[in-house]
Amino acid sequence: MSLVNLYRLQQIDSRLDQIQRRQGEIRRQLQDDQRYRQASEQLQAFQTRREEARAQRQKLEYETSAQRIKIAQAEAALYGGKIQNPKELQDLEREIAALKRQLQQLEDRLLEAMIQEESSEEALQAAQEAMRNVEKLLATEHSLLSGEASQLAREMERLQAERQVTLQGIERPLLEEYEQLRATHRGLAVTRISEGSCDACGTLLTPAQQQQARQPGVIFHCPNCGRILYG
Ligand SMILES: [Zn+2]
Repeated sequence: MSLVNLYRLQQIDSRLDQIQRRQGEIRRQLQDDQRYRQASEQLQAFQTRREEARAQRQKLEYETSAQRIKIAQAEAALYGGKIQNPKELQDLEREIAALKRQLQQLEDRLLEAMIQEESSEEALQAAQEAMRNVEKLLATEHSLLSGEASQLAREMERLQAERQVTLQGIERPLLEEYEQLRATHRGLAVTRISEGSCDACGTLLTPAQQQQARQPGVIFHCPNCGRILYG
């Protein structure tokens, strides 16, 4: 009787191990998603780049308009009639020409900055779109994962209750041996014989060994891996 219970205990414990592994995976996936992190890092980088491009364009716009005002003031002085001295007029003309050359340079830089801003805006929009897609995907995945997690929790509770009942049908020394084997044999202490072999390590058993393993009340160990064989 106790070997049947022991085999059932092994099935329960193997399933509990599996559930725990899966729960760990789900927890990691829900907490720390690589795709989400990547998308949000990228979004942040593009946001920064767009802000920098915008600030640069605004600065150049300001400088350009300040330059235009300077030119307008100089031209007003030139044509206003107040300055009569030809030398002064000539200096003023030269100054206006220099201001206009600077303006041209500023306007070129402004145009370049506007192009930069536009392309950074496009990149930002693409990153925002990618982020929305990742969020949509994760929302779907997360609701599936959360559903699976609560299903696993229910199954675990049921199995633990069954485990308590099953334990009562196993003698203490056998239970201790089982726990020891589980600790040293990757969680698998009891295994079946299939096609004349140990199911865990594949060792072929002689007909006499098979018969011995099937005898009621006998605890037979696999001669190779040492696990308890359930005939
Ligand atoms: Zn074996």
